[in-house]
Parts: sequence; structure tokens; C-alpha cells
Amino acid sequence: MYTSEEIARLKELDRALIWHPFTQMKEYVAEDAPIIAAGEGCYLIDIYGRRYLDGVSSLWVTVHGHRVAAIDLAIQEQLGRIAHSTLLGLGNIPSILLAEKLVSLAPLGLKKVFYSDNGSTGVEIALKIAFQYWRNTGQPQKKRFLSFYNAYHGDTLGAVGAGGIELFHHIYGPLVVSSLKVPSAYCYRCPYGDAGTEDCRRDCFGAVARTIEAHAPELAAVIIEPLIQGAAGMLTWPPGYLRHLREICDAYDVLLIADEVATGFGRTGKLFACEHEGVSPDLMVVAKGITGGYLPLSATLTTERIYEAFYADYAELKTFFHGHTYTGNPLACAAALANLRLFKEVKLIEKLQPKIARLQELLVGFWDLPHVGDIRQAGFMVGVELVKDKETKEPFPLARRTGRRVILKAREKGVIIRPLGDVVVLMPPLAISEEELSHLCEVVAVSIREAAG
Ligand code: PMP
Repeated sequence: MYTSEEIARLKELDRALIWHPFTQMKEYVAEDAPIIAAGEGCYLIDIYGRRYLDGVSSLWVTVHGHRVAAIDLAIQEQLGRIAHSTLLGLGNIPSILLAEKLVSLAPLGLKKVFYSDNGSTGVEIALKIAFQYWRNTGQPQKKRFLSFYNAYHGDTLGAVGAGGIELFHHIYGPLVVSSLKVPSAYCYRCPYGDAGTEDCRRDCFGAVARTIEAHAPELAAVIIEPLIQGAAGMLTWPPGYLRHLREICDAYDVLLIADEVATGFGRTGKLFACEHEGVSPDLMVVAKGITGGYLPLSATLTTERIYEAFYADYAELKTFFHGHTYTGNPLACAAALANLRLFKEVKLIEKLQPKIARLQELLVGFWDLPHVGDIRQAGFMVGVELVKDKETKEPFPLARRTGRRVILKAREKGVIIRPLGDVVVLMPPLAISEEELSHLCEVVAVSIREAAG
């Protein structure tokens, strides 16, 4: 494969030149992180030829696995035509066909597709469209957003303003336009102290209703990660929460934005998380799994009603002035089309159901592990929260880096995962086999046992 000189040089250059995202580089340069050279199915292969089970789907994107013949071929065929052309004033074939596909799959009423190339910009587009919708329809006072504590919508400034994760977002407070915030359903550490009791619904559901009611005249939209807040450590909303939110938004004429960047394309067991509650949002953002983990692409879908508010003579100044250079990139759209075709061909969603049930069974054993305080799951999104004291729920000190210790241990054993603080995250590729799933859980359980205590 690679000579020892080549390996040494690659490692040295990686440490010397690359500033890795969401990474304390002082830690990174001190460790021996794998450099990935190839992939195959649910495995990543590093420069030494070592194989690792990809337990987080290369950051929540891989669907059918790595190097899927049908997607490889679709990209190669598109390369034989054209790699890129712009959507500013021109069309391209894969983006048209993909839009047709997306509209046919999306929750009812979402009929228009605005492309960009990552989840954060997809969110920015939704926020800007919502804001401008009210201006274009003569209600410019509706310009604020409501979001949730523990929300994560991306790292660009608009998305950070809607975000609510103290550790990531607090520092940028002075830079961003902050949204109104309502507590989220962190039931393990319930902000009202009544999770699971009769008062739970009144407090948790009531808080968002009261805030929307109080601020409706100035509210453009509410943005939510449906079913589960991912980056906060997999916090699942109580059943009915999303439907409740839809009803309140309708009652007070506030738009609902569903950020399905993480949950979309099967992750929670249905194609979109909104389907679990039969909800159609006014705007829906998808990215990550859209290309099956191949190429950067996102799409912000919206309704005829919203689109119509922008459809006017140029001089009326209702145009949506937004567009990225690689918006609607033909290669990425061709990959997405092949990825979505495969969903049907291999019956991905049907085959996922028993695997989700199996994962749930495997996770039952985790409750007995030392330091496992909580386990949260929505389909193939799992968070295992590690705490210093299971009785009192006291967290580990930040400096101990418990979550990180666990994932380094798992890596030694051939499994790649990535924690969110002290929450160990499992997000396997949707095509993983039951044996691979068992292996993943086994290695993670042993790693928690060895590294958490
Ligand atoms: N929204 C959600 C719910 C996400 O989970 C993420 C990424 N983890 C984003 C937005 C941002 O996506 P990207 O990293 O592609 O900008």
C-alpha cells in the first residue's frame, strides 16, 4: 500500500497543515489519529490497511455503505457529461430530476426545491426565505425566530443564532442575531423536573405554546430538529411534540421549519422524521444522507404559498437574492438520484425496521454498564450518556474527557465513533448488517467498561 516514508510524511503534513474541525488541535497533534485511505461497505481502511467499522457513518451521512457500485457508476456517467454548471440563470439535468424525486418523497405540500451544498447553508436559506416571506407579504414586523435550547442547526452565523448549545454557541453570542429560545426535552435532566409525570405535558408542551402566543406578531418562524436533537447528545422529543408545534404555528400564523439535516433519509426509521407525526413543515432542510455520503449537497424544500410570495416583477424587489457557486452541482445531484433510487431497489426502509429493533435490544444491556446514566434512541440515532454518578446524575468533569477516552478505546478495537461531550454516539450506516451491528455494540460496551470508570 503505502511505504513507511509515505506514511510518515502524510502524518507529518496532516498535523502541520490541517486545522481539523470541532477539534482541539493540541489533543489531535498528540494522538495518532488514523488517516483514511479507502472504504468498503461499512468499513473505513487507513493508510496501514487497518479496517475500522464506521460507527458514525462518516459523520452521519453514509447510507448504503462506502463504494456503492450504483452510486459510483452514476457519478462516473455524469463525469462523462459535465462536472459542474451553474443554476444561476441555467438549468442542469440531474438537478431537475432530483427535484422531481425529492418533491415526490417529501411530506405533502413541499413543492419547490432550493439547492445548496451543506446543512448550515440549507438552514440559512430556510431562515432567509421565512424572513423575506413576511416582508414580501406586507408583514415586515414578523422577523424573529424561535428555536430551542440544545438546538444545533450548523456553524454559519445565522445557524449559530438559531443554535442553543452552550459550549458551541455561547462564544459567538455578540456576533449573531439570537433567536427566542424555549427549553428542549432533555428528559434525563428535565428543565421542569417533572419528566414522565402528568405535569410533563403541561410544562414542556405549554412552554412553547405560551412563547409563540406571546410573540406571534413578531415571529417569522420556529425552527426545530424533528423527533430528536442530534448534536446536543440525541435528545428525543416526547411523542406528539412536533404535531403540537405544527398546530400552534398554524393557530398563530408562524412558519414551521423542520431541520432534517441529520434525521432525513431514513435515519430515524422513516424517510423523514416529520412522517412519524404526520407533519408537513413550511420549510424542510435536508443534507447529509441525501447523497448517501458521497458529495456535499443540501436542499431546502418549501410550499407553493411561500414560493408565490417571491414570484413577482423584478422591480417589486421580491427576488430571493441568495445562491452559492456550487448550488445544484450536477455530480452531487447525480449521486443523490442514484442513492435515492437504491432506497427503493434494496427496500432500505423496510429492511431497516428489524435492525432498529435489534439495536434497541442490544442497547438494553448497556444499562448495566458502569457510568451509563441514560440511553436515547430514535431509529439509527443513539446517544449513551456517561455520568460520574448514576444515582445523582453528576456529570464527569469536562477536563476528564470521558467520552473521548471511550472513543479512543473503541478505535484501538477497530471501531470508529465520535462522542458529543460525554455522550457516546452510535450512528451506523443504514445498510449495516445485524452481525456488524452486534459487533459495534459489543466493542462500544467493552470500551465504556474499560475507559469510562
Ligand atoms: N442541522 C443539523 C440538525 C445538523 O445535525 C447539522 C450537522 N450535524 C447541520 C444542520 C449542519 O450541517 P453541515 O455540517 O452540513 O453544515
